[in-house]
Amino acid sequence: MSAAPMLRRPIMGGVFGQGEFELATQPTITNGLHAVRFLVIQPRAGRVLAIAESKTEALAGARRVLRATGAANDEEPRWVQPRLWSDAELSVVSEPPPRPVSRRRREVFTRSGGCCKYCGTPLQLDGAWHVEHQLPRALGGTDEALNLVAACERCNLQKGTMTALQFVAAGGR
Ligand SMILES: [Zn+2]
Repeated sequence: MSAAPMLRRPIMGGVFGQGEFELATQPTITNGLHAVRFLVIQPRAGRVLAIAESKTEALAGARRVLRATGAANDEEPRWVQPRLWSDAELSVVSEPPPRPVSRRRREVFTRSGGCCKYCGTPLQLDGAWHVEHQLPRALGGTDEALNLVAACERCNLQKGTMTALQFVAAGGR
């Protein structure tokens, strides 16, 4: 599993100097809910100074680390930019990140002609369609390419554990 993408902004001024440190946000899932965590990183040194659930805590934690290591002695940070990050920008990064499309999904999508195999509804490659087992796994169906087709959410849910033939015979959707 690869790490969620990070959005990074340079931190200017105060103990953070002139852009050596960056404030990063990274989407996470906590107790099943989408959340964002904040990191202060030093990309050139490849280290993370602080991780917190809020921007303020992350910055405070990083300042403590820098002061403790003697890397900074100016107690009052001067912000070159009065505002690093607007609330509007924060709400954008709070959105769940777009899911990368795996190679398997791409193959299934292409082989199914970009449409739901059962009802023909056109699908978006990066949309919420399902990789459908024509012969359900519950009945011994495998993950082999020939057993996999693209299905819209509605068809996938309605098909349940029917085989593809049973589902079509039952009138599809
Ligand atoms: Zn469908």
